[in-house]
Amino acid sequence: MPDVLVAGGGPTGLLTAFELERAGLDVLVLERDTRPTTQSRALALQPRSAEVLADRGLLAALEPHVQARLPGGHFSGIPIDYTDLPTRFPYQLGIEQAHVASAIEARLRTPVLRDAAVTAVAQNGEGVTVTAGGRDHRAGWLVAADGGHSTVRTLLGAAFPGTSARISLVVADLTLTNKPAGLADAWQLPSSKPEFLLPLPGGRHRAVVVGEEQQRLGRDAPVTAGELQRALTAAHGPGIEVGEVLWASRFGDAARQLERYRHGRVLFAGDAAHIHLPVGGQGLNLGLQDAVNLGWKLAGHIRGHAPGGLLDSYHDERHPVAARVLVSTRAQGVLGVPDPDAVAVREIITGLLAVPGARRAMAMELSGIGITYPGTTGRATDIPVAPDGRPVLVGAALPADWADLVETRDGSRPQLLRPDGYLAWAGGPGLDVALRRWVGPQRATSPAAASMP
Ligand SMILES: Cc1cc2nc3c(=O)[nH]c(=O)nc-3n(C[C@H](O)[C@H](O)[C@H](O)COP(=O)(O)OP(=O)(O)OC[C@H]3O[C@@H](n4cnc5c(N)ncnc54)[C@H](O)[C@@H]3O)c2cc1C
Repeated sequence: MPDVLVAGGGPTGLLTAFELERAGLDVLVLERDTRPTTQSRALALQPRSAEVLADRGLLAALEPHVQARLPGGHFSGIPIDYTDLPTRFPYQLGIEQAHVASAIEARLRTPVLRDAAVTAVAQNGEGVTVTAGGRDHRAGWLVAADGGHSTVRTLLGAAFPGTSARISLVVADLTLTNKPAGLADAWQLPSSKPEFLLPLPGGRHRAVVVGEEQQRLGRDAPVTAGELQRALTAAHGPGIEVGEVLWASRFGDAARQLERYRHGRVLFAGDAAHIHLPVGGQGLNLGLQDAVNLGWKLAGHIRGHAPGGLLDSYHDERHPVAARVLVSTRAQGVLGVPDPDAVAVREIITGLLAVPGARRAMAMELSGIGITYPGTTGRATDIPVAPDGRPVLVGAALPADWADLVETRDGSRPQLLRPDGYLAWAGGPGLDVALRRWVGPQRATSPAAASMP
């Protein structure tokens, strides 16, 4: 029996499995689709995600697929320069989401069981039973990373407050049989308009359209080549000709977030926990950061050495970060409305974001570099995380009680690094307090000894 089941083999579920596996747990991923997806909603990785993937040796495999290093991000199309950010990656990586997921999956020992859609979940004090692909699977815990329409969320009746979609957009990858002059032939940041057309490798183009026809059609109406042709002609003139539509999907500006990320032995991560307009390139990155925040805490809890409350600090730390992204994307959505009042607000915001301090604050937020958690002093930029997912103590003697639980390294600057890369202590008094808070009060026990939540 695995220690943990993960529902959903998207980027969030796969990185969560990677983190749990790194910490020595047995994991099984249950994925609805029969084969790995080639469809990519996200096309960009923020700097903090690049750091996280690089620290785990996962970035090198992505290099051949990187289409662009964009020198900044954007706030509703207003460019935000990243070049002075304190990171090895002061840019957004232009890369298709499917490559990110497959690079993580290629490094997993954890099996990914496909054609295994979760249809039922039951839990008691001992563990969870998950029905997927018509079979029952037992484990101690379930991580629900089954995306924005999360079945697990519905099955548990978890409160998911927020607002429903008021606008409808279409995303599509397609080929063009005729391209008018003047279309961008390299990746670039979106403009102030929500629509864009971007060249992808292999002669494909990514189109996002939002017009009157999209508002009229129902959410489940199939996207046709005719609909895309009409929308692209309206945006780019009669010279544009749509060839083949490779995949297409409707999406909107619904903004919702789970009230609680933990429901007994079920923990939610990624789009299953929060949905919002995908403007500014935040969703994939939120999910990856959820995964690295949750993995070591759940592992510590299962192994039995984690202090009380460590697992719940996952909700406490990550809920506010996603709540802030919902605020940011709601505001960006308003700035994208072609209405004279919204255009006036955009003009004011554009001016404010030209002020260096404001621009930098926005860059720190959008890039994920500015994220800090209570009791930490930000992320480490120069200490690689431990391959086995343990915390790392640099330049200080480790008290005997924590001998097996913490990796020690020489160094002139004393620091304690949490397994997700955040600094829990930076010299001076308080090392014992930090160890007790983040690692636990006693030596590890075996996973089998893990107790009730
Ligand atoms: C048009 C668009 C553009 C976007 N662009 C960006 C961007 O540039 N940058 C960015 O950061 N984010 C972007 N996003 C958001 C990003 O794509 C998502 O936030 C990201 O996919 C979330 O990953 P996830 O693993 O949490 O969920 P998903 O990627 O949705 O993965 C969920 C997985 O669960 C599986 N699943 C579903 N139901 C079940 C079930 N019942 N049982 C088992 N498995 C199940 C699915 O098959 C899927 O594999 C964009 C989104 C859209 C719609």
